[in-house]
Amino acid sequence: MKKILVSACFLGDKVRYDGKQKTLNHPIIQKWQTEGRLISICPEVAGGLSVPRAAAEISTLNGKVLTSQKIDVSTSFQHGANMALKMCNKHNIRYALLKESSPSCGSNTVYDGTFSGKKISGEGKTTELLRQHGIEVYSELTIESLIAALAK
Ligand code: SF4
Repeated sequence: MKKILVSACFLGDKVRYDGKQKTLNHPIIQKWQTEGRLISICPEVAGGLSVPRAAAEISTLNGKVLTSQKIDVSTSFQHGANMALKMCNKHNIRYALLKESSPSCGSNTVYDGTFSGKKISGEGKTTELLRQHGIEVYSELTIESLIAALAK
């Protein structure tokens, strides 16, 4: 059975920067959970950041992850990405379902680093590392493609 790494906030864990969750209401989630396929992680919490925490975005200038107060939290984000990869290796995971646009979990878009709410093409730090190791990363917007990939 193929296991799937999933963003903890999708499963109702209140781990987002604002202390909230981002529950993903899709019938397949319940099914996967019942089948014991889901391995959840919040890379930012795994990287040592607190809940709540300052919002952070990836700078387009140097790729660092900065808060709006210009505090560099790149090390924590990278540590969280490493933890996610470690979990994938431990459970032999080749697929991930991660929250779109997050500076850790985004897979197609991220915020542009100006804290103005503008998104650009890009991927979060965890997604980047997982993809470098051949793990396919999907989001809530591409979940149907993940379902199709798993059915192969
Ligand atoms: S880092 Fe990922 S799992 Fe954690 S709150 Fe952000 S989107 Fe959700």
